[in-house]
Amino acid sequence: MTKYIILFLLFPISLFSQVSIDFGLEDSDTIPSKFKTSISELRNSIYDQIPSYSKRGKYEKVSYKFSDYVAHSESSLLQSGNIYSNWTELEDYLNNILQEVLPEKYKSNTNFHVYINKSGEPNAFASPAGNIYVNIGLLSDVNTEAKLAAVIAHELAHLISQHSFLHFIKNEFGEFGNGLVQRDWTSFRYSKNQELEADSLAFLWLKNSRYKTSELFNMFESIKARETRGHKKSSKWNKPELIPHATSKERLNAFNRFTQYDKTDNGVYFVISEDFFNKSRIIAKSESLKYLKQNENYYSCLEQSFRFHLLEPDNITYVYYIMESIRILGNNNPEIWDKHFLTYGNYDTLRINNLLKKVPITKSFFEELDIELAPLYSYELDSIKAKFYWEDDVKFNTYNEAIEFFNSLGKALKCNECLLTYGKSLVDLKLRDRYFKGYINSLQVSNNMDKCLLEKVSTDSVFRKKIIFIDDFVAFVKQGQERAYLTNDKTNINQVIKDSLIAHFPNKEFYLLSDIKNRSLTEYNELIALLYPELRYGVSDVLKKIRGEYINFGDVSQQSKNIFGKYGANEIEYLQCEIYESKNLNNSLEKYKTIVKSDYDEILKRSNTTRNLNIWLRGISLKNEKDLHYTRYKKLDNKIKFKNSGYDVMIPKIVRALKAKE
Ligand SMILES: [Zn+2]
Repeated sequence: MTKYIILFLLFPISLFSQVSIDFGLEDSDTIPSKFKTSISELRNSIYDQIPSYSKRGKYEKVSYKFSDYVAHSESSLLQSGNIYSNWTELEDYLNNILQEVLPEKYKSNTNFHVYINKSGEPNAFASPAGNIYVNIGLLSDVNTEAKLAAVIAHELAHLISQHSFLHFIKNEFGEFGNGLVQRDWTSFRYSKNQELEADSLAFLWLKNSRYKTSELFNMFESIKARETRGHKKSSKWNKPELIPHATSKERLNAFNRFTQYDKTDNGVYFVISEDFFNKSRIIAKSESLKYLKQNENYYSCLEQSFRFHLLEPDNITYVYYIMESIRILGNNNPEIWDKHFLTYGNYDTLRINNLLKKVPITKSFFEELDIELAPLYSYELDSIKAKFYWEDDVKFNTYNEAIEFFNSLGKALKCNECLLTYGKSLVDLKLRDRYFKGYINSLQVSNNMDKCLLEKVSTDSVFRKKIIFIDDFVAFVKQGQERAYLTNDKTNINQVIKDSLIAHFPNKEFYLLSDIKNRSLTEYNELIALLYPELRYGVSDVLKKIRGEYINFGDVSQQSKNIFGKYGANEIEYLQCEIYESKNLNNSLEKYKTIVKSDYDEILKRSNTTRNLNIWLRGISLKNEKDLHYTRYKKLDNKIKFKNSGYDVMIPKIVRALKAKE
């Protein structure tokens, strides 16, 4: 009861100002047509952007191949549902910032564009197609438009300097000693020199713009603060000289060299609009928290929501995300409940017997405001509104105490969803049920699965269907490590496979993943999370799960179970087929071009040629209300060579593979 009184005193205004959680924006659930550019169109546009001197002689084919690979990754990124398609005001705003920093001679170049990526990480990346992707987490993290300009200028420098193309060339000519092909630009790592070069160009362009150049420096300071916190989270000692990319320290040193002779900095923090920046940043905060949670970065979600909470303690959205993060972290690893909030799992570096050692931090987070540990930047210290955490009596120390505290706070703020979160965190099932019932009574439950779970009806008796999802057919020609992917599909091979299977398995239902993707991106992404757990947990974890070893897959199981509910299924199978020819590609550009432009039919229908077929098949079943079972996880019938027409051989092989598993 005392807690209540304290809370009411702490947040007198909040009870009237804000009563509902901001669950974020509704973005389009289908892929907008502007993102549906064909591979060949993208390939041509990327190829056109490569300067002609890079397309001569031995670089001729490499530059074409590069364009082809980038086109594939760009197309899948734009159509992933991870790029905001409806938030045009913010997109325009960011593109206006781009125009402000864009050097004069590129102003007429319409290839550069900024998109917003649905990720809570404070980051941005550039794709060699000419696009800069700013994570929504970056907008929520920075406090000035000039900082956004600094990041955009830096990414633009990578693009204009063709850094990824140069990296690709080195890779092709074996300078990295392996044949790995970079197809994912979201995690692309530039070399140390490339990073420093991008910084120096960004500095130059910012100097020529109306922005304050020192914000580039302050950006490095923020990165440094995050590096320090990251360093504290690892028990290992990382030697700075072993880090291949540029560290913030090196970047800060380089910046000091740039500014050595010219210290003038007449720029401003906001050129386009301070008002729009501030309004968008509020939305960006709840969007980032939503995606940090959705992408299962629960610890980052906790840190960020707690940071926002310290600055704005009566905002129930932040309280909700703090509680959700604690709940999931605790449910995934019950050990943490009696550990110290935000300090457990962190290490100090101490010199012991002349050796540097990492020692676990045992103090409470609220013992002192430690800026190296707190998820705050030093410039935010003066803006902390929730100073009471460090004053008077301690509000909480452990995660267990934290969720109790925030539950009281949630109640005081009239946060309904917080009650549900608190209920879900309870181990005592009777108490938990009481919370659930209270919550359910206030809502309309439409989801079948939730109803079943809540009413404790055995799921086996409700969901009986067997479903097979068919992923996109893949065809390529390979020589050694080199692959040329075919893109044209006049016959609609996925449909051909589906129709043939329907005839053989009348007791099963078949769906094409591409159809689902066209209908609903949410459903598609839920399915991908279910079908490809290794994308989130790593292959070894998934294999352990299949072997029956205990691996906690956390909350995704609940999300995935919704799929079973939606289809009324208790067994789901997943099928992907891949066909390829091993052929001498002859290093000729013409041959490569012919392959990527040819139709699947050409590789399938030809007889008297040897092709390999890979069939990927896995099954997931719902055993009880708690567990998902990955019953099979296998690449079947690897490398079946066949000489007759592909259709005659392929379809019976797939049927046999599926029947063998019945
Ligand atoms: Zn960079």
